[in-house]
Amino acid sequence: MNYNIITIFPDLIEAFSDTGFIKRSVKNNIISINIINLREYSANKHKRIDDKTYGGGPGMVMQYQPISDAIENIKDSGPIIYLSPQGEPLTQAKLKKLASEESITLLCGRYEGIDQRVIDDLVDEEISLGDYVISGGESASMVLLEGITRLIPGTVDDEESINQDSFQAGILDHPHYTKPEEINGMKIPDVLISGNHEKVEIWRRKQALGLTWLKRPELLKNVKLSKEDDKLLKEYILENKENDQK
Ligand code: SAH
Repeated sequence: MNYNIITIFPDLIEAFSDTGFIKRSVKNNIISINIINLREYSANKHKRIDDKTYGGGPGMVMQYQPISDAIENIKDSGPIIYLSPQGEPLTQAKLKKLASEESITLLCGRYEGIDQRVIDDLVDEEISLGDYVISGGESASMVLLEGITRLIPGTVDDEESINQDSFQAGILDHPHYTKPEEINGMKIPDVLISGNHEKVEIWRRKQALGLTWLKRPELLKNVKLSKEDDKLLKEYILENKENDQK
C-alpha cells in the first residue's frame, strides 16, 4: 500500500510514521508513505495556500491551485480522500475495503476547510471520523493510516488477534486479563487458567456476544448468530439479570 498524504503539517505525519509498527512496515517495504508538503505547491511567492472566504465572515479557506498541483504531481494517487466532518463516518468495513487498494491519497484540511471546487472536481470521497469537528485532517489521516495498515498481512506480529478485534466480525472483542491473577480482591475468571482451550474459546465468545449486547446492542442486528451463539448470549443475559438482582 502506498499512502500519499497532503498536509501543511508534514512534521506531524513524519513523527507518526517513524514510530512503532508503521515505521516497521515502511522498513519492511509493506507500505510506503509519501508526505506531501502543500506549501511547496503554492504558486504564491509567500507560499500561501489559503485566503479569505467569499461572502465574508470569519476563517480562511484552503485554495484550489496548490491542492490541484500537488495531486497532479502524484504518480499513483488511487482514490483521493478528503478527511472531512461532512464525509461518510468511518467504519471497520471501510478500512477493510481501503486495505485492498494499491494506493490512496489523503487530503488534510485546516481552517474552515477547502474550496468547494476541490471537493467537486478532484476528491473521490469524503471520510469523517464522526459527528464532531477537530482542527485539521492530520489526526484523521493518522487514524486511517494506522487502521488500514494493521489489516495488511505482515504488518502486525499477531495477525490472528486482528480477527478477534471489535467490529472485525461485527461484534465487540472479549475482555483481556494479564498478570497478576488477583488485584485488590479482583480475581481473573477461573476458566482462563483452566488450561482447557475449548472452554476458554466458549467463554470468550460468550463474553464478546454479551458485551456487545450490553454496550452496543444495535450491532447484533447486523450479525448472523449461530444456534450456539444464541444459546451463549441467552445464558449471558440471564446471568447478567441474576447479578443485577443480587
Ligand atoms: N468548516 C468545516 C470544518 C473545518 S475543520 C465544517 O464545519 O464542515 C478543519 C479540517 O479538519 C477539515 O477540513 C477536515 O480536514 C478536518 N476535520 C474536522 N473534523 C473532522 C472529522 N470529524 N473527520 C475528519 N476530518 C475532520
